[in-house]
Amino acid sequence: TSKEICEGYLGRIDAHDADIHAFLKIDREAVLSAAAESDARRAAGHPLSPYDGIPVGIKDNICVKGETVSCASKILAPVKSPYDATAVSRLRSAGFIPFGRLNMDEFAMGSSCENSAFGGTKNPLDVTRVPGGSSGGSAAAVAAGFVPVALGSDTGGSIRQPASFCGISGLKPTYGRVSRNGLVAFASSLDQIGPLCRDVADAALILDIISGKDAMDCTCLPITPTSAADAIAKCDGVGGLRIGLPKEYLGSDVPEAVAGVVRNAAKSLEERGAKLVEVSLPHTSYAVAVYYIVATAEASANLARFDGIRYGDRKTGSDLVDTYFKTRGAGFGPEVKRRILLGTYVLSSGYYDAYYLKAQKVRTLIRRDFEQAFGECDVMLTPVTPSVAFKFGEKKDPLEMYLSDIFTIALNLSGHCGISVPGGTDPATGMPVGIQFMAPDLAEDRLLSTASFFQRNVFNYEASPGF
Ligand code: GLN
Repeated sequence: TSKEICEGYLGRIDAHDADIHAFLKIDREAVLSAAAESDARRAAGHPLSPYDGIPVGIKDNICVKGETVSCASKILAPVKSPYDATAVSRLRSAGFIPFGRLNMDEFAMGSSCENSAFGGTKNPLDVTRVPGGSSGGSAAAVAAGFVPVALGSDTGGSIRQPASFCGISGLKPTYGRVSRNGLVAFASSLDQIGPLCRDVADAALILDIISGKDAMDCTCLPITPTSAADAIAKCDGVGGLRIGLPKEYLGSDVPEAVAGVVRNAAKSLEERGAKLVEVSLPHTSYAVAVYYIVATAEASANLARFDGIRYGDRKTGSDLVDTYFKTRGAGFGPEVKRRILLGTYVLSSGYYDAYYLKAQKVRTLIRRDFEQAFGECDVMLTPVTPSVAFKFGEKKDPLEMYLSDIFTIALNLSGHCGISVPGGTDPATGMPVGIQFMAPDLAEDRLLSTASFFQRNVFNYEASPGF
């Protein structure tokens, strides 16, 4: 029964989450009452779908009606969501049960979960290491077996990188594939909601439910949902599939522990009939710089609404401006402030042309690189991150932290889809190493069937280190 399933997961959380801190909150009463409703529907012979009663963890920047939506920030700590995000309401319509609020880097800014205002999440595979970020709570919860699947958000790698650090899979859909309605915006032209799970087939079935047009988000493409679960079922191999290996992602500066896993994956797929082609993404070296201009510019505009008047925990000052200063000064953490300052700077008159406009032009070149490369291959295969999960406090310099997204960020700038799946283990640390498949706009069916084929035939997630 759903009650047994939910109680099973809750028991595991009780036993282990004090050490991991994947959850900021979980409303047990809401969960158990939803489970009881699900069991009643099933007993009456009318389940909403085959998945009626299955829990799904939700990152704390995705709205669930009546629950907190703090984005792991003090400024939003008291805020409760008045409505469900579209992705959440679609999952609910299939009977899924929103299961707790998962920790993250504050406002999804970070790569380690260390930026949560409420304390970081630990990597369940080695608690001295970070789970990645910003969807670190989502990845840790799945890896620790606290939930079967979770939703995260990916602006520059925040689903794929933590999935890789925790030895699970994480999907960033094509921009516009999944409605952003009810996702607290970080950088609106880059953000996408996606699933984190163990089995790629689970990512497919979640995507099939949450994707598709939505009148509440005008950037959501007016097209039908994906049919990725079907595509996986029908996929009979990778014979003839052209797999592109972008040479800029496999240069001599990539550590062997990571590059070797990608090369082995490519070789194994070649042995099963795929054709390997070298492709080039020549503007790769600009991606991180462009991202930190575009993303901070958009963030500075999006976060302006958190002023203690419209939203947020007000700290009353002597007048309106003083109230803004006090509220935002006390409410935002240092990384968020750094990004707001950077974003305001690159948008200010005099600098707009030099930074923001220039970055937008280079963004177009990056997108063209991908379009060109996808003319020569069907999917690309790359590393996810330059290293395995690092230790807490290891990356103190923000710029060093920013570089940990070097292989994931360009895909958000270009808008295409990508998935990270476990590909091997680093012998030195025993930590999992992920690989990334990337595919053209709206080619999620191909992306997921390739990743799932890899998982079933080459490297199963069960071979990855476990909790
Ligand atoms: N780590 C990147 C950042 O700090 C990406 C975050 C994300 O995808 N939300 O901005």
